Amino acid sequence: MSRLVQIDSPASHKRRSSVSDAAMMSMSGSFLDCTTSPEKQSDEVEAVTSETPRKIQSPRQQVFMELVQTESNYVGILHTIMSMFKSPLENMSESEDYLLNNTELKIIFGNLPPIYEVHKQMLEELCWAASHWKEDFSIGNVFLKYLHVLHKCLNCLENKGKVSSSIKEFTSANKWIRQPDDSLTSSEWRLALKMTANVCPLLAIPGRSQDRNHCHRCVSEIETLGHVLGACPFSETLQNSRHYRIRSMIAEALRKKGFTVHEEVHGISQEGSCRRIDMLAIPPGSTSAYIIDPSVKFKAQEQQPAEIHYEKCRIYEPTVPFYLEKYHLTSIEVVGLMVGARGTIPRLFVTFCKKF
Ligand SMILES: [Zn+2]
Repeated sequence: MSRLVQIDSPASHKRRSSVSDAAMMSMSGSFLDCTTSPEKQSDEVEAVTSETPRKIQSPRQQVFMELVQTESNYVGILHTIMSMFKSPLENMSESEDYLLNNTELKIIFGNLPPIYEVHKQMLEELCWAASHWKEDFSIGNVFLKYLHVLHKCLNCLENKGKVSSSIKEFTSANKWIRQPDDSLTSSEWRLALKMTANVCPLLAIPGRSQDRNHCHRCVSEIETLGHVLGACPFSETLQNSRHYRIRSMIAEALRKKGFTVHEEVHGISQEGSCRRIDMLAIPPGSTSAYIIDPSVKFKAQEQQPAEIHYEKCRIYEPTVPFYLEKYHLTSIEVVGLMVGARGTIPRLFVTFCKKF
């Protein structure tokens, strides 16, 4: 591997600079870097690279070899972590002078074995392709084959500790974090904090379980906080009552302002299908009304509240003519509102409230 790095024509050096040098820079100097210690190199990659002099490799093959090299380096680093840190620390955990206990080991290294395994398998395939090189070999197919596994591993890591981005959009809604009030017991408050930071003890969190991460109630999906709060059929009753309470709160607030509010109204769309709306709110003395439909969602990205609004418009606008006629109105605006499943209030919701 290190030989490959050194044998370098000026032309190929220029081309390499964008990707692999960046990768090298980020790795060089790391004591985990296997490129600096020849004895840890992958035999297969070594064999492959020494067989074909770089000069007679096609440009495509050269790029591919760099890819194999980067992947090999990464697998080497993972191997070092597994063999030099994980295993010795695990062996020590049984003894009296352990450094990390089993829980800490699981939190730190729990997700590493599947990541190591999938990269090792991928590297094997890449090495095979390198030693049986054909110009029409599809490199992308190797990545596509392992994509779902990689995606699963990364998802678990990425979301851990991820606070809903809408938490900063309306900070008054987070007052409870600083001043726990009487509505929460101290253990509920602690759990609410964990939910806010997405570190609840659920099976999707790395290290919680070695062998499974599917919901221990419904078994059909990965046990993430988003699943428990919004999708698991076992919490459906709670989800419905949460939705009902939010709808009632909005309806009550509007009634106090003199609005006429019809809740849970059934309408017929232009295509003839029956669609139920959460509420139709008519301002005092006006013939311009609002179809208001709140939904509770686990905040995944910045644009979500706007997307939910547009989705509701798409669903309910075809029922507008029906309500115009039924309630003798002149215009109706559809408003899709989102409330964060962890109690956050997005900016769009605040803008809506300020309108009245
Ligand atoms: Zn479930």
